[in-house]
Amino acid sequence: MAKVAIVTGASRGIGRSIAKRLAADGFAVVVNFAGNTAAADQTVEEIRKADGEALAVKGNVGDPTDVQNLFSKTLETYGRIDVVVNNAGIMPLSPIAKGDLAIFDSVISTNLRGTFLVFAQAAQHVAEGGRIIAFSSSVLAKSFPTYGPYIASKAGVEGLVPVLANELRGRKITVNAVAPGPTGTDLFLDGKTPEQIEHLSKLAPLERLGEPEDIANVVSFLAGPDGGWINAQTIRVNGGFA
Ligand code: NDP
Repeated sequence: MAKVAIVTGASRGIGRSIAKRLAADGFAVVVNFAGNTAAADQTVEEIRKADGEALAVKGNVGDPTDVQNLFSKTLETYGRIDVVVNNAGIMPLSPIAKGDLAIFDSVISTNLRGTFLVFAQAAQHVAEGGRIIAFSSSVLAKSFPTYGPYIASKAGVEGLVPVLANELRGRKITVNAVAPGPTGTDLFLDGKTPEQIEHLSKLAPLERLGEPEDIANVVSFLAGPDGGWINAQTIRVNGGFA
């Protein structure tokens, strides 16, 4: 029986690349998304065209009922869960002085509460020998103005990772986070001028933006047999953007 992976936020961007890569690695993949059904269906179609197995399940990672449904649908359909990648995330920017609670609450709900809820279900359902992978960001090290709510949410994620790794002692399950640098997706590109994009893409010594596949390669490694000795870490995948 094939191993099974859940990838949240897999309708677009980095999540779609992860879903396709894990399917190519032999996992049956559950493609979670928030609202963009057409894009999620396209991810599933691309996987099936390449002879992979996939299923789309809509759900907000910040909503406990939706997250529970995501895990129960996966178990109903595929019977087991080996890998959980909580990639879903948003990045609305706002200076702290504005005190914009709507932005703060939305980013904390998706990025931090979402990680907490997905971790809770993953801790209950991932099989022995499994992998749990969360998403932080390399921008934590930069402390750029307007990134306060986003950085706060991702700092919280980095805090949860080693705690869950400790709580899962004895079950041979690893828990890690991946922290990309600037990567060419809607989340990074939307709302930036070409000059801002050019500037940010040159900050890494490798002088380019990350591609979603650069990040999916590392998730594949962590999810596969060669990544098994990495536990309780945040891996910065950023071409040297530090
Ligand atoms: P995109 O904006 O390209 O895609 C976001 C994905 O998350 C979509 O599939 C979207 O679904 C889904 N999503 C958003 N909110 C929710 C929610 N509440 N519940 C479930 N799914 C949701 O983002 P990226 O691919 O760029 O980002 C992926 C991860 O990588 C995020 O955690 C981000 O913080 C992190 N990251 C990205 C960087 C970058 O430069 N791109 C840099 C550092 C970290 P739908 O299509 O339905 O809206």
